[in-house]
Amino acid sequence: MKIRAITPYAVWVGIRNQLLVKVETDEGIIGWGESGLSGREKAVMGAIEHYREFLIGRDAFAIGAIWQEMYRSQYFEGGRVLQAAISAIDIALHDIKGKALGVPVHQLLGGKQRNVIPTFATTSAPPGPEMIEQAQMLIDHGWTAMRLSPADHQSDGRYEPRESIPVTAKWCIKAREALGDAVVLGIDYHHRLSVAEAASFCQKMPSGTLDFLEEPIRDETPEAYEALRRLTDVPFAIGEEFASKWQFLPYIERGIHEYNRIDVCNVGGLTESMKVAGWSEAHYVDMMPHNPLGPVCTAATLHFCAAVPNFSWLETRSSPAEKLGFDNAEFFPVQPRLQGAVYPVSDAPGLGVEVNEELIRKQSFKFWEAPHLKRADGSVTNW
Ligand SMILES: [Mg+2]
Repeated sequence: MKIRAITPYAVWVGIRNQLLVKVETDEGIIGWGESGLSGREKAVMGAIEHYREFLIGRDAFAIGAIWQEMYRSQYFEGGRVLQAAISAIDIALHDIKGKALGVPVHQLLGGKQRNVIPTFATTSAPPGPEMIEQAQMLIDHGWTAMRLSPADHQSDGRYEPRESIPVTAKWCIKAREALGDAVVLGIDYHHRLSVAEAASFCQKMPSGTLDFLEEPIRDETPEAYEALRRLTDVPFAIGEEFASKWQFLPYIERGIHEYNRIDVCNVGGLTESMKVAGWSEAHYVDMMPHNPLGPVCTAATLHFCAAVPNFSWLETRSSPAEKLGFDNAEFFPVQPRLQGAVYPVSDAPGLGVEVNEELIRKQSFKFWEAPHLKRADGSVTNW
């Protein structure tokens, strides 16, 4: 079975652009993939066009060899743009192979090791009484793990970490007191802190307040995370921006973090994700995948979660606490749907997602920029 065509669609669907990739074969089987480099989709589109030049006519079943060729057969390998392109093509090829063999994608990854996929949900309210009400609502709906949101930037884009830290820490303590010891509580600081600021945040709370701290600092420097590791006992959840097993390498091997926020649509698809999972298993690091994109990403990630032993929770952005205000059913008539706080594992051939390509084709791309945050003194800080 040969690859006949590769078509990327970077279109505004609901609340954001989604970069979907359709791979067609000469036997008429179609596979879908998704790229995760939100905000820079045009760059990934270009990379996919480069890869398409040599992938047409290739054996669609040779997923591992195609991954190696996309990664190695160029002088300037790797990076987040190229890996996001590789991810989408790799996922689409798994969809094709599953459909061709009449098996769900998890069967291509060793078969499912769990019957359902537990998720964590995120509270959307800022630190305060409503945050705790939302958390209690999630517990009432069946969630046993959840992620709180820190005090964010002002409406004018001003963000001072030292203003966010005390109020966020105070309400994390109140949340733990109100919700009890059984619930798993984490928080995502979206790498907006320095090492010293992250240490201050952690040190303002009694040990055990948080079960995980997600992305307190930027991840370019493992040594910075090691410095922070020495200043706090809160487990770290990081890796959603990592674009290969090599970026995970220092973190896994030096015991810096406890949860892998791996993104199947950024790291290099299912092929690379399985390698990171195996490596992490040897170090007793659990997979806690990043999943903020569309149903193709969710479906691919669910098959991955089903097939690995070292798994904690999958992120979901569908919960009573997040009013994203968009039902994408018309774009994706068949897609994973939560049952309470868990996703069932699809046993349909391939990913188990159907895309309304006619409707997708009618959507357009919208340029979108993340907020460009500034400190009170006017200097640039992380979004
Ligand atoms: Mg995150």
